[in-house]
Amino acid sequence: MDLIDTYRHQGLRRQLIEALRKRGIQNEKVLEAIYALPRHYFLDRAFEEWAYQDKAFPIAAEQTISQPYTVAYMSDILEVGKRMKVLEVGTGSGYQAGILALLGARVFTIERQKELYDQAAQFLPKLGFPQIRFFHRDGYKGLPEFAPFDRIIVTAGAPSVPTALRDQLVVGGIMVIPVGEESQVMLRIRRISEHLFEEEPLGDFRFVPFLDGLEG
Ligand code: SAH
Repeated sequence: MDLIDTYRHQGLRRQLIEALRKRGIQNEKVLEAIYALPRHYFLDRAFEEWAYQDKAFPIAAEQTISQPYTVAYMSDILEVGKRMKVLEVGTGSGYQAGILALLGARVFTIERQKELYDQAAQFLPKLGFPQIRFFHRDGYKGLPEFAPFDRIIVTAGAPSVPTALRDQLVVGGIMVIPVGEESQVMLRIRRISEHLFEEEPLGDFRFVPFLDGLEG
């Protein structure tokens, strides 16, 4: 794939930023990151036109690249700070991982589909991003050998909050996870102390399912 970011693409991104603002995204750092990262690089060439609409889009292995609004919203409520250790479950296209890296995070991202893991692990380094590490793993288990994490973000709809993941949060850390079967409620979970977690429900979303085990 050739990586060409034209004035037209940049103009479309500016329009997308305005659309996100209208929908209530106020976090300037998040908006800047979305402006900085060409989303059309993450879609097939044939679908370039769709890249800057505020819509989810099919990628390989029957998965989707999340809607820009969802990426912006989750990145905002995750309260990412510079040099934080962030675990992402569900690498997919790698777009959300790129946004987290642009926000200054050190990103550990896990994908269960081999095909998607391979694509993202090969593609993102071409854009730079030495601060992102890729793993072909089952996200239910997290990455115990790199825990604890300052932040955890799950980008697939989970039937419930996986305990193993929650336990990999640092005390004071935040996890954002959409929970539910058909549609999901976005939960922001703060680890208050070793055994105390505070849950805050924040809006309804629709994600592809969080699945057990590895694929491919
Ligand atoms: N963050 C992605 C969105 C991907 S959609 C992006 O920016 O494009 C959700 C992804 O979660 C899918 O790729 C799916 O394969 C993956 N997934 C689902 N269950 C998983 C699990 N148990 N472990 C790791 N990844 C999982």
